[in-house]
Amino acid sequence: MTASQEIIHHTYDVVVVGAGGAGLRAALGMAEQGLKTACVTKVFPTRSHTVAAQGGIAASLSNMGPDHWQWHMYDTVKGSDWLGDTDAMEYLAREAPKAVYELEHYGVPFSRTEEGKIYQRPFGGHTTEFGEGPPVQRTCAAADRTGHAILHTLYGQSLKHNAEFYIEYFATDLLMSEDGECQGVVAWKLDDGTLHVFNAKIVVLATGGYGRAYFSATSAHTCTGDGGGMVARAGLPLQDMEFVQFHPTGIYGAGCLITEGARGEGGYLTNSEGERFMERYAPTYKDLASRDVVSRCMTMEIREGRGVGEKGDHIHLHLNHLPKETLDLRLPGISESARIFAGVDLTKEPIPVLPTVHYNMGGIPTNYWGEVLNPTKKDPDAIVPGLMAVGEAGCASVHGANRLGSNSLIDLVVFGRAAAIRAGKVVDPEASNAPTNQASLDKALGRFDDIRYANGSIPTADLRDEMQQTMQEDAAVFRTDKTLAEGVEKMQAVAGKMSDLKVTDRSLIWNSDLMESLELTNLMPNAMATIVAAEARKESRGAHAHEDYPDRDDKNWRKHSLATVDGAKVTLAYRPVHLDPLTDEDQGGIDMKKIAPKARVY
Ligand SMILES: Cc1cc2nc3c(=O)[nH]c(=O)nc-3n(C[C@H](O)[C@H](O)[C@H](O)COP(=O)(O)OP(=O)(O)OC[C@H]3O[C@@H](n4cnc5c(N)ncnc54)[C@H](O)[C@@H]3O)c2cc1C
Repeated sequence: MTASQEIIHHTYDVVVVGAGGAGLRAALGMAEQGLKTACVTKVFPTRSHTVAAQGGIAASLSNMGPDHWQWHMYDTVKGSDWLGDTDAMEYLAREAPKAVYELEHYGVPFSRTEEGKIYQRPFGGHTTEFGEGPPVQRTCAAADRTGHAILHTLYGQSLKHNAEFYIEYFATDLLMSEDGECQGVVAWKLDDGTLHVFNAKIVVLATGGYGRAYFSATSAHTCTGDGGGMVARAGLPLQDMEFVQFHPTGIYGAGCLITEGARGEGGYLTNSEGERFMERYAPTYKDLASRDVVSRCMTMEIREGRGVGEKGDHIHLHLNHLPKETLDLRLPGISESARIFAGVDLTKEPIPVLPTVHYNMGGIPTNYWGEVLNPTKKDPDAIVPGLMAVGEAGCASVHGANRLGSNSLIDLVVFGRAAAIRAGKVVDPEASNAPTNQASLDKALGRFDDIRYANGSIPTADLRDEMQQTMQEDAAVFRTDKTLAEGVEKMQAVAGKMSDLKVTDRSLIWNSDLMESLELTNLMPNAMATIVAAEARKESRGAHAHEDYPDRDDKNWRKHSLATVDGAKVTLAYRPVHLDPLTDEDQGGIDMKKIAPKARVY
């Protein structure tokens, strides 16, 4: 049986690929408007990585003290190190409260204050008074299992609105027309080996991040950047891929996450001298400075010989001074993680932690409606008809060079909803679908067969390991011209070996060897774009800390990078950052002087 023999065709108005928070919110909104909606997902919806989100979701509800959407916008702009698109960041901060109340009404079981309002905790980089006031309690939480609560609720709501689910279907490639319009996706059904063509007026990529391009990551093994891979193969660019967030507190060795909410609830970091070193680096916000800052300070302490443990290669996170009731009520999940993965009773001892890859700021470029961009010189905001991207797979860009904690969950629901609103406007449910381009389908099926029968000399797991080790070493928290140049060279060699891949299992049913090989073909272009764009960016901004260029350079580098990947070859271009807000100040918008670029200190 060859791939081309068994194809089942489906026709929809919209096909959403991915059933994490972003995909479900988009699918739900589309189905709700009467669009015939399919949601294709490689894992069961409630197993998507969103389920692991612990700390919470940011919105200026003012439940625990004064707050304002403009303060949230300011913090997001500053957090992004002035690389985010201003219109998208305004949209995020303004729509956030509405999106959270909507979740509440859908049934998300948020933790509550004494008065019964949604509980909110402090999170890194979230402040009051445009960064002049004390930290704000803006992060809405369901204990330390917020993503779990949101994901389960959204799945229930999607079913209620008759979104049709295709569960454990692996989308392999986009179907594109001759003139660059997206017409659908090809998917492989993992449990019976059939191949499926989903023809749609709009495809929404909600496939999540690509943390697994690195060796140590907090993300699930399924976070392999499949959407980015599909986009790269369609000849479209990926944006701002050099910006990879390291979370300060991954458990040493295991990599799994201890939420920033732990520091929000009063936890703090110490070095081998028992010193609360963050007080030295960020006198105002200390352990609640933004993530890139805390990760760099920890790395500096370790480099200067003040790491803890036998090898002096990690840092301690203390929660043992907090009342047991707080830990039980607010942080039950991480108490368990600390016990299982670090063997630590956090009521008594500190947790060993290390900065760990956590989030991809870069991704598939979109406008704030989720429409995918294919910038040209003439029109840097030109869209790809029929294609959208939301969630961590996309880059709207609200996180710019560094995402603030709890700003991703809100990004999922705000932009998932925006994509649905847009689809409601541009899709005509009465119109018939254009037939899919046979050449594009043949290409996708041919690629599938090539990988299935790959008969080279390198097993997928070995090549993946080479890629992960290289990225971990050379596209790390601190970067130099030398490490990046070496990294690019090594990664070109690694990507070059893709043609020598060896797939052992040729079957089509529950073939994890084939699936992981397809995932590797997606991780690789994401990794290549990351390291090449990082090598090119001669400044330090947000998560991109370049030791040879320690300062931010707005004159030359306040621009989005665009990487077009073809095998081991990456071509770079740039597009301007959107500097204009959605709303003028006299119409209730933010005073632009407040968000003018300045040094980023916490
Ligand atoms: C441990 C952890 C904790 C976090 N905590 C927080 C937090 O407290 N607050 C916050 O704001 N952010 C947090 N984040 C970040 C945030 O959770 C993620 O960015 C977000 O959940 C990503 O959601 P998503 O919908 O884009 O993708 P995901 O939830 O990753 O879902 C991706 C979906 O795409 C599907 N998919 C992928 N590839 C394919 C394919 N080829 N074919 C078919 N389907 C496919 C998968 O099946 C899945 O359904 C955390 C992240 C981690 C890793």
